[in-house]
Amino acid sequence: MKKITRLFLLLLALASLNVMLCDRMLTDGTVNSVHEGNADRTPDGSKATYKSGIAPQKIDAVIRKELQIFPIPLSKYHTGYGAAFEDSWMNTRTFGGDRGHEGTDIMLEPNTRGLFPVLSMTDGTVEKKGWLPQGGYRIGIRSAGDIYYYYAHLSDYADGMEPGVTVSAGQLLGFAGDSGYSNIEGTVGKFPVHLHVGIYYDDENGIETSVNPYPYLLFLKQVTIDF
Ligand SMILES: [Zn+2]
Repeated sequence: MKKITRLFLLLLALASLNVMLCDRMLTDGTVNSVHEGNADRTPDGSKATYKSGIAPQKIDAVIRKELQIFPIPLSKYHTGYGAAFEDSWMNTRTFGGDRGHEGTDIMLEPNTRGLFPVLSMTDGTVEKKGWLPQGGYRIGIRSAGDIYYYYAHLSDYADGMEPGVTVSAGQLLGFAGDSGYSNIEGTVGKFPVHLHVGIYYDDENGIETSVNPYPYLLFLKQVTIDF
């Protein structure tokens, strides 16, 4: 067997193992899905920024090149701590009107707000920060490839996170929480603690398009900081 094939099979096996292990880490043995955050659009519904646009057939390569690290640090030495997620792409969400779920929810165990650090998956620049009714305290990172990586329901932000600040992959953005699902800023507790991850880009016509983060997170799960 060629070396490269063996490596691929090993990675595949590790990925499956990871998923199994992490699923088990939740106390009830299931991966929960919740109703929450969605697109990070401006109040008038327009997208945040638009440069030149990316052809849909090129988006996968750009994302794969940019993603460097799983957004939640995990450790085999802290077995009571777990992160699990499933493919809930376009599942029904009802807060703020019927819509599809534009992202992946990383459910966290223990269910404690402010416990898990949230790391930037990529290099980039902070574009948005603050309260959204659906996403709670969110932060959005714009990458060099003009992709918008959206992290929602935080409990708090890391010091110095302001729009325009440059961040590196693996840098602390804030802490996972359960904020959101209310027009009242600071509302928490409407769902279990988790990190909602969204990925958006503008296509060639300047139309904001969401990408399913699930396969990328599955891939990234192999790249996590040990603690
Ligand atoms: Zn979500």
